[in-house]
Amino acid sequence: MEDCIFCKIAEGKIPSDKIYENDNFFSISDANQQIEGHSLVISKKHFETSLDLPTTLGAELLDCIKKTVLKLVDKYEWEGFNIVNNNFECAGQIVKHVHFHILPRKKGGKTPRVY
Ligand code: AMP
Ligand code: ZN
Repeated sequence: MEDCIFCKIAEGKIPSDKIYENDNFFSISDANQQIEGHSLVISKKHFETSLDLPTTLGAELLDCIKKTVLKLVDKYEWEGFNIVNNNFECAGQIVKHVHFHILPRKKGGKTPRVY
């Protein structure tokens, strides 16, 4: 989709360092790190919200989330994580291309805000 930043990244028009990718999803570091290791799992095709994502892509979405988390666990010393998915403007969605924030957490660490 024209003028969609995540479509441009998915199509390679904007270079990015991918953490992991499969046929329908990829993950990258968030440009505005709320907490060290803050990452995004993004669909390769343009879907606006989770409601537009075909149910058949559920397994691949979970695969991308899990593989991304497992790679980051090795890199950062974290004890847990949050998955945050903002849908529609009133819920804090700024980029209108479905994505899932992955937020590393540690006991006593900073509480990230992404909505
Ligand atoms: P949301 O409020 O859920 O729509 O969050 C959009 C997220 O995308 C924000 O955390 C931004 O920092 C992040 N973001 C926007 N543009 C880029 C980019 N080019 N590369 C990486 N992250 C980005
Ligand atoms: Zn898009």
